[in-house]
Amino acid sequence: MPERVPVCSAPMRRDPHSFADDTQARTDSFALDARVDFATQTIHATVTLTFATPASGHLDLDTRDLAIDQITDAHGHALAFTVHPPEPHLGSRLAIDLAHETPAITIRYRTAPDASAMQWLAPAQTAGGVHPYVFTQCQAIHARSLVPLQDSPGYRVTYTATLTVPRALKVVMAAADRGRTENGDVAVHRWEMPQRIPPYLFAFAVGDLASRDLSPRSRVWAEPSVVEAAAWEFAMVEDHITAAESLFGPYDWERFDILIMPPSFPYGGMENPRLTFFSPTTIAGDRSLVSVMAHELAHSWTGNLVTNANAEHFWLNEGFTMYAERRITEATEGADAAALSAALGRRELEESITRFADRPEMTKLRPDLAGVDPDDCYSLIPYEKGYFFLAAIESVVGRSAFEAWLKTYLAAFRFGAITTEQFEAHLEAALPGALSKANARAWIDGVGIPEGAVPPKSAKLDAIEGLHGALPTANVSAAWTATEWNLYLESVPRPAPDATCRALDAQLTSSKNYDVLVAWLTLALQSGYHAVLPRVEQVVAEVGRMKYLRPMYTNLASDPRTRDLADQLFAKNRASYHPIARQMVEGVLAKPRA
Ligand SMILES: [Zn+2]
Repeated sequence: MPERVPVCSAPMRRDPHSFADDTQARTDSFALDARVDFATQTIHATVTLTFATPASGHLDLDTRDLAIDQITDAHGHALAFTVHPPEPHLGSRLAIDLAHETPAITIRYRTAPDASAMQWLAPAQTAGGVHPYVFTQCQAIHARSLVPLQDSPGYRVTYTATLTVPRALKVVMAAADRGRTENGDVAVHRWEMPQRIPPYLFAFAVGDLASRDLSPRSRVWAEPSVVEAAAWEFAMVEDHITAAESLFGPYDWERFDILIMPPSFPYGGMENPRLTFFSPTTIAGDRSLVSVMAHELAHSWTGNLVTNANAEHFWLNEGFTMYAERRITEATEGADAAALSAALGRRELEESITRFADRPEMTKLRPDLAGVDPDDCYSLIPYEKGYFFLAAIESVVGRSAFEAWLKTYLAAFRFGAITTEQFEAHLEAALPGALSKANARAWIDGVGIPEGAVPPKSAKLDAIEGLHGALPTANVSAAWTATEWNLYLESVPRPAPDATCRALDAQLTSSKNYDVLVAWLTLALQSGYHAVLPRVEQVVAEVGRMKYLRPMYTNLASDPRTRDLADQLFAKNRASYHPIARQMVEGVLAKPRA
């Protein structure tokens, strides 16, 4: 047999946030066997990566803070490997020497107690207060702190997972349930993900959980004391799935289960397939915040089926999902509700662009993110600028042509991961000239908001703007949705007069709807109305959702009178925040004092 000559080719790394190299073996599936150890906040695991075709030569994997104990090939032979020193934002490259051709490798390893994909909660941090809890959040690039793999969305995988947990706890996973067995103090729960996912959609949670069925294909999971309220809040899930299917085609993930997260969950929702994660702040008690459900459900098509190739193309996930969310809202709540949501989106887009005044690159739809941590530049810009770009294209070609194109786009790139250039080529082929008519270059490569953005139109919006910040009569505001309240509160000139603040204080400070409450508290802080400070302190102590923490800390920190309070509140609550939220607040408080 002739000696194998190693093939040395230049690495082809197409994702600035991954060591995955297109010239190397490609992982096709993985099998994870993991023991979840609450005492040491560690996962002890072995994972077998099976390649698309048997592979030899070098293999680079993404890892972050993993302790690698042993790597073997399919015959059980030990393989040489190097864990390179961590690189900023990326973690450590795990370089493996596949000495002989092998169809698979097995890695034995442990996660770190501060693994960035996991938050371990003490019993006191849960609603029940008796059992600990752990959950994962892998987007954007945290899966590598949980499993050594090619952590780039273009490396889609199927997987199986066997999780061993304390018997008193339930495991839920964004995968198909393959059964649980109990033995002594432990339970072993098996899962399978038969659909190919980008690694950032790997997700599970372990805790004291109960469930209620919502429809034949949907169930809600939550801590026992929360589950009834959650089942009521999300009871209409099947209507949303049906509306979405009529717009975007069949639902491809079989189940749409919902997990209500502990309060520290940093996002409104996370579209983990088969098991979407929702912040408990979505349970307003009046179904007024179910737009988060429309959003996460829409990701089943835009994001989970057609996925951004890497974080530089994040708008392909989020801009399309905002478009799809507003179409679901239009179908379930009417055109006015969708227009109001778009109008609020426009305000939020303008605020986000102002926030990045010192980093205009981040206001491009397709920014250059080499050397930039995706969590550091997270904002609503890919969401809302992406939405308004798609709305501009729709207005140029007409709704029916746009809808017809959208269906072919979703079909063409199903279970794929694509770039902005691939989107452009597909649209140009189907609707020649539409991109240039919609001013695409300015949207994609330009900073800020281009000319020609379509203004949302609604009589209800006109009525709110007609108030010019004056207090609405009780009759008018009694019928307002959370979105209308938000638009009104945004429209009140700063600083608002003391009388306005007192009137709003009486009406809104006790609100259980965090969207409305935080919009009001923001106005109050920006108006120097400090009677709300006790409520602000309560909010930053009881929620960990960044949408609410950011304006509270930003406004406390920007006023010299409350600057010290901002530092004190962060010191007090820091430990209860998710690492991603902690990093965000640290960024806010690091800004120089005014
Ligand atoms: Zn989203």
